Amino acid sequence: MSHLSDLKATLAQITHLQEVSQILSWDQQTYMPPGGAEGRSEQMSTISRITHELSTSSDLGRLIDGAEKEVSALEPTSLDAQIVRMVRYDFDLSTKLPTNFVAEVVKTTSMAEHVWMEARRENDFSKFAPWLQKNVDLAKRTVEYYGYDDLPYDALLNLYEPKMKTRDVRVLFDQVRPVVVRLVKAIQERQGSIDGSVLLRSFDESGQEAFSKEVVKTFGYDFNRGRLDRTTHPFATSFGKNDCRITTRYDKNLVQMALMGTMHESGHAMYEQNVGDDLVGTTLAGGCSNSLHESQSRLWENLVGRSKEFWQYFFPKFYAQFPEQLADVDLATLYRAFNQVTPSLIRVEADEVTYNLHIILRFELEQDLLDGKLTVADAPDAWNQKMTDYLGVTPTTDAEGVLQDIHWAMGGMGYFPTYSLGNFVSCQLFEKALEANKDLPIEIASGNFSSLFSWLKENVWTDGRRNFPLEQIRKATGRPLETSPYIKYLTNKFTEIYSLPPI
Ligand code: ZN
Repeated sequence: MSHLSDLKATLAQITHLQEVSQILSWDQQTYMPPGGAEGRSEQMSTISRITHELSTSSDLGRLIDGAEKEVSALEPTSLDAQIVRMVRYDFDLSTKLPTNFVAEVVKTTSMAEHVWMEARRENDFSKFAPWLQKNVDLAKRTVEYYGYDDLPYDALLNLYEPKMKTRDVRVLFDQVRPVVVRLVKAIQERQGSIDGSVLLRSFDESGQEAFSKEVVKTFGYDFNRGRLDRTTHPFATSFGKNDCRITTRYDKNLVQMALMGTMHESGHAMYEQNVGDDLVGTTLAGGCSNSLHESQSRLWENLVGRSKEFWQYFFPKFYAQFPEQLADVDLATLYRAFNQVTPSLIRVEADEVTYNLHIILRFELEQDLLDGKLTVADAPDAWNQKMTDYLGVTPTTDAEGVLQDIHWAMGGMGYFPTYSLGNFVSCQLFEKALEANKDLPIEIASGNFSSLFSWLKENVWTDGRRNFPLEQIRKATGRPLETSPYIKYLTNKFTEIYSLPPI
């Protein structure tokens, strides 16, 4: 198997370059002094050029051709067959865009990001509009280069959720939207029944850090192969499975930000810390797709971290860390505070219930922009109308509306749906884990996360990127991607918390 072993040697080089690039980026966002910015951007661009050359070279193409013949007799589920299949997929995708077009995209989007920042600061959509138009045009050309069988949006979605189809996602979102809109309306009629003000009291940052670390360590995040630092925008990053780091941000008057953020990122990091050893250096030792990755962060943040059982165990520890702030607070009040629902204008501040409505809105507008059903000039009004229809709140400025996210400036159309798909997947996986072990809630309430950890490791994490997302979901749950576990979870949980009539 000479082609296959040469192919693996090249994949190891590509992996190392990708890891080096991640280290540079982590350092830039954590400890690099401001003076290092220019040199760092040159270093990163060199590494990224070499990585791109290596992963699109005709030599690599020939190795893949040869390796395909060598593995053709193997079982399709064998490791080598899966490596070659995924590498072929990556190679075909990354060689579809002409180099000069890629350079044009990088140049245009970096300018567009710059203009977007100004436009948002000055609340001036007209400034950003020509750049949004350029990005929509680039997205259309991207679609043409990649090609599609059914809908143009498929080509963009495919970049983040390989082989998922727009039409299928529409069906899932159409199932979720009416239920959640009804749930939000019902909750709004009970506004005031939850007092979440305890979370706005002053919690010192060192206490927040100590508690957050204790929580994710108890989950199973391995600090021998990870660490927690501070950044403006929290993230998880991996330099190989034995060094997966997370970051968070603190605000002493918003205790849930650092705590929930740390749990969220630990979900991403545990995924990467626990990919199979046999995948190391193959370019498959990472998450299966954006939605699968997001399912892990959401599972630990929401299904675990906002559950009654979690707080049954952690409330005394939280209290021990903050006895003054919590002197007059009981478990039920704290649990409800962490689950307060307030329709708001800003996606990143949205609660568990309203979050997906923000995503559905963006998914619908992106398709309309791409199809030409919506013009850039009409985008702000279309945005505000959907906010009113879905969430019952209307932005009064474009900065709080169409200008709020960076995604359309950075050329990230097709990305948004993966956030919601991640929520659906998290519930589907959790339901299956619960089916395998009915005592899961009792275990969580006693601070024992080992069986949940093991189930996820065995059914998701260890496979890394061996499978495409829909294959992985089916392998783990025996079912296609479904919204019913998500709808059931959300409806049951919030009907109880807000004492709602049946939805
Ligand atoms: Zn995430």
